[in-house]
Amino acid sequence: MEKTLVIIKPDAVKLNHIGEIISIYESNGLSISKMKMMKATEELLKKHYIEHIEKSFYPSLIEFMLSGKIVVLEVTGEKAVSKVRELNGVTDSRNAAIGTVRNLFGTDLQQNAVHGSATAGDSSKELEIWFKEGEN
Ligand code: GDP
Repeated sequence: MEKTLVIIKPDAVKLNHIGEIISIYESNGLSISKMKMMKATEELLKKHYIEHIEKSFYPSLIEFMLSGKIVVLEVTGEKAVSKVRELNGVTDSRNAAIGTVRNLFGTDLQQNAVHGSATAGDSSKELEIWFKEGEN
């Protein structure tokens, strides 16, 4: 069993898509093993998006991620990391395959409804950032 981190981003939370997004994971053989709704902080986002810190879009990305509440999920299942990435679709919502989360609920390259860890290595780092030890 593999675990991965999903963040339902402020755009999807504001448009009331939390339930539909979770249903997509659950109906594809994955389980929600941890979940919380929160406001992100600059400190957490800096750790999470450290690889993008020098990119021109970083300030805009941080502003977007701070623009409303997010839902943070630990998703568990067989090949959870790649399965979630597949269910989410490609980064730019406008190019995401029909039926993927980003196709259904995202708008563009930045406002793309969800984050899913890219690799198993990333998922363990990201789960540590968002869920402190012992936290459910
Ligand atoms: P992901 O793994 O598919 O989420 O994509 P990345 O790790 O490359 O980017 C992280 C997040 O930054 C994406 O999900 C988008 O919300 C945002 N993003 C990526 N590329 C761009 C860009 O060129 N411009 C803007 N404004 N946002 C971007």
